[in-house]
Amino acid sequence: MTIQFYNTLTNRKEPFAPIDDSADKHVYMYNCGPTVYDFAHIGNFRAFVFADVLRRFLELTGHTVHQVMNITDVGHMTDDQLADGGGEDKMEKARKRLIEDKKAGKLPDGALGDPDDPFAIARYYENAFLEDARALGLRIADDPPLHRPRATEHVPQMQAMIRTLIDNGKAYVADDGAVYYDVSRFDGYGSLSGNTLDKLRGGAGGRVSDANQAVKRNPADFLLWKPDPSHIMKWDSAWGEGYPGWHIECSAMSLHVLSQLAGRELTTIDIHTGGEDNIFPHHECEIAQSCGCTGADRFANLWMHTRFLLVDGEKMSKSKGNFYTVRDVLEGRVTGRPVDPAVLRFELLKSHYRSNANFTAKGLEDAASAVTRLRNAMTEADAADAQAIPDATAHPVVKAFAASLADDLNISEAVAGVFEWLRSDAYDPHEARIILPAIDAVLAVSATPDTADDADVLCAQLDAARGAKDFATADALRQQLIDAGYDVQTTKDGTVARKKLA
Ligand code: AMP
Ligand code: ZN
Repeated sequence: MTIQFYNTLTNRKEPFAPIDDSADKHVYMYNCGPTVYDFAHIGNFRAFVFADVLRRFLELTGHTVHQVMNITDVGHMTDDQLADGGGEDKMEKARKRLIEDKKAGKLPDGALGDPDDPFAIARYYENAFLEDARALGLRIADDPPLHRPRATEHVPQMQAMIRTLIDNGKAYVADDGAVYYDVSRFDGYGSLSGNTLDKLRGGAGGRVSDANQAVKRNPADFLLWKPDPSHIMKWDSAWGEGYPGWHIECSAMSLHVLSQLAGRELTTIDIHTGGEDNIFPHHECEIAQSCGCTGADRFANLWMHTRFLLVDGEKMSKSKGNFYTVRDVLEGRVTGRPVDPAVLRFELLKSHYRSNANFTAKGLEDAASAVTRLRNAMTEADAADAQAIPDATAHPVVKAFAASLADDLNISEAVAGVFEWLRSDAYDPHEARIILPAIDAVLAVSATPDTADDADVLCAQLDAARGAKDFATADALRQQLIDAGYDVQTTKDGTVARKKLA
């Protein structure tokens, strides 16, 4: 089976060939992670769920994936569509908002600590991100913290890269004291986004700011270090007390942490992902910095970008009232009743990553039916005897599932194949007992995080009562579970209670 993915760098599908060709098939992958100034929204999580599905698919096909997803907790400016940033730090924006919220007595909850402390804000939203990520089955949430580097803890690595870029003539200290990257000194600038220097010089698409033009060599030069002792978070440096630019953060964290995981110095990584808005300027600048520093031809061999999630066909925005966090959806503020996290996961993964996904209440209902169907099949399979299949991945159903995903993660075709098999005469619960776990290793919808330990305790009590032929107690326990919103089924391994879906 040939795995091929669409590469934003070359604008075509290419066979996937990891740098490491050893038997363990190591893959080094970096995903641009959340900026922790607020709760992540469902669009952010479309990008994160995509990265998780990619990882899980590569694992299904025998790769050892080293996944790193950063936590952006400084330097991400509000005008991040401009090459050199601008506006204010998103952490500062959060601080102002939270201080106002505190005055109005509506801070998110007591766990936030001091809303005047940007580190407290960053840790609070990082924890919220991890909770959401766990609920949605993202494996990165259970990796050691090393895999989720914080920008504020990698400032020395950023400064070392800036030093190298200055020494080799690719960066300069301008008259305003800030350090800029000189884009004219990097031939490949524009190779990812098509925003060549000529286009940028002409002010194409308003993607260079008017600010600081007097001190910059080229309008498109972007910030590496900003001396600013009044900034919300600041560090000493050879260029004055200040803070790093957003782009240098990801260049430094990706190469540093993935090299640590590889046990050798990497100058090229296998995969780099992000949402489509990251292509320019963020990823274009990352390439210039990383290759400008290491001299490598390529910083990442494969660049994958998810198209945006829309809500009811429109861009999410607070003013339109269609801006939803993961919590809004899970806690029932969008549909009027709580949503099982696996249903939201399925909704976010079910359409192809290179087309816009459209989040709707109807889509969520369809996702709930699909998840219920899969879970029912799993419960039925659990009750059946396993039929010996030497290797699930060799079974035609799993092979077809993997083959669809091997074609640039064609998830809709992969999932359609599974449902076709469930409906077909070929379906056999004995085989399903082996096949479904392999499929769920990628989809990850079987877990019912809502199935509280309490339910497990009640199931155990129910089985004990039934064993003791105390059917009155068993019936009462069964009713208690049903009243609490569980589907109760008797399997050969005992009673199983699953939370009913939205
Ligand atoms: P941020 O927290 O703003 O740094 O964004 C985290 C990730 O979410 C980035 O990779 C963005 O490109 C991605 N992203 C932001 N909005 C959307 C959206 N509506 N749909 C899909 N991905 C998004
Ligand atoms: Zn990034």
